[in-house]
Amino acid sequence: LTSWNFKQHKTVIDLGDGVKIGGDELTVMAGPCSVESREQILETARIVKAGGAQLLRGGAFKPRTSPYSFQGLGEEGLKYMAEAREETGLKIITELMDIEHIDVIMEYTDVIQIGARNMQNYSLLKAIGKLDKPVMLKRGMSATIKEWLLAAEYVMNEGNHDVILCERGVRTFGEETRNTMDLSSIPLVQQLSHLPLIADPSHGTGRWELVTPVARAAVAVGADGIMVEVHPDPQNALSDGPQSLKPANYNLMMDELRAIHKTL
Ligand code: PEP
Ligand code: MN
Repeated sequence: LTSWNFKQHKTVIDLGDGVKIGGDELTVMAGPCSVESREQILETARIVKAGGAQLLRGGAFKPRTSPYSFQGLGEEGLKYMAEAREETGLKIITELMDIEHIDVIMEYTDVIQIGARNMQNYSLLKAIGKLDKPVMLKRGMSATIKEWLLAAEYVMNEGNHDVILCERGVRTFGEETRNTMDLSSIPLVQQLSHLPLIADPSHGTGRWELVTPVARAAVAVGADGIMVEVHPDPQNALSDGPQSLKPANYNLMMDELRAIHKTL
């Protein structure tokens, strides 16, 4: 179901109001790693909207490596995101971690994100395969491309064909970056599959100084869009501050992407 031969044309996911993922347009999903407060998400939403993004990202249920780290605001965070959507017109993408949160996530989000840590959570994949909602499936931390596409196959096999893939880097022996951004997977997956493919240079590098050049590279090799972490005050972010762009740097990144991709 994921293979190019199955459809022989690119899947375009239409979120309404002119926002499409796949096809000719470059889609930008931007926002903080986590929703931290009403003010923080509203401020970030205004910034990313003004810069040209179409979707607001933000985690309310967070898959943190340590149980002692900030775990997200839960439904309260989703309410703030919905308020930001109301004000700015941005569509919303947020992570679903657990089957028990499906109803609450369905109520608020436009796209469900499945994180790297859950890429092979097959019961979760089957459950979202039964939903009528686009899903963005992030590549597992050490998943092969075949494993990643088979995870998408789990979702589609249950009937939900609105799947977006997201390359977010894989784990290698290097210590200088959080992950190794697998740029070659982008043209490869575009040859293998008709599904839209988004690149996440924030988790792919773990360092804000590398985010813009890697975003440029990902667009140049054919990504259908970018997911990027932006925070009004990265130094005080409750998660992923070191890889979050300040507003001014986000605007510079958008200018540079516009120079490469004329539809943005
Ligand atoms: C995220 O998008 O904030 C996230 C947790 O990403 P990943 O699942 O790719 O680590
Ligand atoms: Mn993050």
